[in-house]
Amino acid sequence: MRARFQIRDIGANSGERAHGWLTIGETAAGPLRVPLAIINGREDGPTLCLTAGVHAAEYAPIDAAMRLLQTIRPETLRGVVIVVPVTNMRMFEHRAGFLSPLDGLNLNKIAPGRRDGSISEILADVLLREVIGAAEYHVDLHAGDLGELLLPFAGYALTGRAELDRMGEALARAYSPRLISLATPDGTIPPFPGSLNFSASRNGVVSILGECGGDGTLEEDDVRTHVTGVQNIMRYLGMIDGSAPASANGDAPRIAARDRIVVRATRSGLLRLKVRIGDEITAGQELADIRNVFGEVVEVMSAPGSGIAGLIWTHKVVNTGDPVVRYWITEPA
Ligand SMILES: [Zn+2]
Repeated sequence: MRARFQIRDIGANSGERAHGWLTIGETAAGPLRVPLAIINGREDGPTLCLTAGVHAAEYAPIDAAMRLLQTIRPETLRGVVIVVPVTNMRMFEHRAGFLSPLDGLNLNKIAPGRRDGSISEILADVLLREVIGAAEYHVDLHAGDLGELLLPFAGYALTGRAELDRMGEALARAYSPRLISLATPDGTIPPFPGSLNFSASRNGVVSILGECGGDGTLEEDDVRTHVTGVQNIMRYLGMIDGSAPASANGDAPRIAARDRIVVRATRSGLLRLKVRIGDEITAGQELADIRNVFGEVVEVMSAPGSGIAGLIWTHKVVNTGDPVVRYWITEPA
């Protein structure tokens, strides 16, 4: 039997669940609030925090967080699960991608935030101190944002602290169907400084990034990847019963990111893509062509190196400098 678990005025006794709202500040339309649920298991165990909707047009992770908070049963849970199903409610109501409509900031680039900052910075600070900081483990659920198709992956920002890093990698492996991204602070792969993951892991929380879905869609397969990933983590941590993680992707070989490269248009026009998300790319392979309004091919884009297509922007008209494909350079994991 464990004790009552409480964040501000939202508390659950052992074997119970509770939900409510945290007030972060106010706007002319009223209080700015964050929805928060607590599932307090009947037995002792770790505390795991799940956040979704840091980018609130990423719907598969939001749906997954909602399902998990409905289906995790306090009667059989060991430990506590804290769920923030939509971290950024103003983005959610506006169906806004990337940036808060309130102050134009990207919540995943401003961590650790500031107590005396603008409202997104205050939100980052409260999340890290009072919500994520109340847990030992954290998963921030993301997808490609509006206009982004994405290859699922899990990421962890290495701290140099051996025990934290061992658990971070283990959680990323438990979560991801295939690709993991273990980041160093000055590297080219996520999670980057400024993200909630990066700050949380510096604070001693084992915090991973789980990415699946994208482009404003809500597809069942993507939701399942998130749900399965979190369940695998909970099994690994002994919070629920079950043994070997059942990967959403079967027995596909695991790969680890080393680097990632963005291929950009140098000309402008209508883009005709020749590659799909998850495709293996070889150096020199044609990725797309660009035609001007008279139908003449003005650019044939080819891959500068080999890798795997990790993000494809869905825009069909490109201007000079626009990103088209981002590919991962990987190694066996
Ligand atoms: Zn995101």
